[in-house]
Amino acid sequence: MNIRDLLTDLPRKVENPDLDKILAYTVRRDIISLAGGLPDPAVFPHEQLREIAETVLREDYAGALQYSPASGIPEFKRELISFMSRNLGINGVKDEEIMVSSGSQEALFVLAMSTLRTGDAVFTENPTYYVAVSLFKAFDAKLVGSPIVKGQLDVDSLEKKVKAVPPERRKLVYVMPNAQNPTGASMSEETKRYLLEVAERYDMTVVEDDPYSLINYEGKTPRPLKAMDKSGRVIYMSTMSKVLAPGLRLGWMVGDEGLIRELVKVKQVIDLNTNTLSQYVAARALKTKVIEGNIEKVKRIYTSKRNVMVDELNDSFKDRAEFVKPESGMFVFSFFKGVNTRALLERAVEKGVLYLPGDALYVADVRYDAARLNFTLPPEDKIREGVRRMKEAFYG
Ligand code: PMP
Repeated sequence: MNIRDLLTDLPRKVENPDLDKILAYTVRRDIISLAGGLPDPAVFPHEQLREIAETVLREDYAGALQYSPASGIPEFKRELISFMSRNLGINGVKDEEIMVSSGSQEALFVLAMSTLRTGDAVFTENPTYYVAVSLFKAFDAKLVGSPIVKGQLDVDSLEKKVKAVPPERRKLVYVMPNAQNPTGASMSEETKRYLLEVAERYDMTVVEDDPYSLINYEGKTPRPLKAMDKSGRVIYMSTMSKVLAPGLRLGWMVGDEGLIRELVKVKQVIDLNTNTLSQYVAARALKTKVIEGNIEKVKRIYTSKRNVMVDELNDSFKDRAEFVKPESGMFVFSFFKGVNTRALLERAVEKGVLYLPGDALYVADVRYDAARLNFTLPPEDKIREGVRRMKEAFYG
């Protein structure tokens, strides 16, 4: 059997040898990795989760270990609705407007698979979340990126690009309005309003990928676009991965009831349902406010780590590192004067540090002087040491 003959083009379209290579380095103990995007296990409320899982299994093992509805179990959806209303200003969501998913990644996959035809345009921020790029490319979409200037999406540029695409080809606007991955930029209320206005003008559907609104380090929870959406054109997605634990694989999507009904059909043929036990556990963690309590801990630990990284970048690089101090999220995305981060990656590895070269994250107008640096996983002393090693590798 020839494997090539067996396969469609899909595996080739989603492969990313570059990232695979980089991630392979992360197992080396002598290397400080700032390249990944993992939470600090210190933020997992493991004792509370153990107790909750025990209770769930004692009280309703028959339900928790059973198949469940493809759109999500009613208890979890109910808790999500009140959680969004309490914490995000997203009010009045109906049960039928939610699809629970195996991480928000699955929700994005189901959406892409169900909406994109070859040549459809997806308007993104540039740079953007690389797994979304692979996914949109897998369905042969055309990615049209607009720059982020001084921490704000250039909505005028987006509008120009929308105008240049025939209306029937304008499919989705995919954005991360708070703590954009990778840049850490957060849209102001004004930018959000303007973006919604442009979406309205061109009758576009906006996908808001929002893993980070809930863990803002400046003490305020920004309003998601969805909370400002009067015409129902925002499809909202979020996740339990950053506020609870990614291993539970729980995300959710909020959208028009008719759309959700169609997407749930597709999800059903992918995995029948999202992990039932995880949903029982998360529903109870929401109900007992374990998650709201945990959010405070996540903010405390990550604020401190973010500050360490930002301070060390300023101390080590002075004005040669240019970045937006992220209000939330897991990364600092920095440009380094006169440095080709791609070309110097091997040298950085020799010095014992790994980062994600920024060029991998652009869909157009690629820049080679950027790096995405994760501050959530490494301990604070390693963050400091990692940044110093980068300075050695870049400027000697
Ligand atoms: N969107 C963005 C912007 C992310 O950063 C991530 C996780 N890195 C995801 C979606 C997927 O997260 P999950 O599937 O764990 O919810």
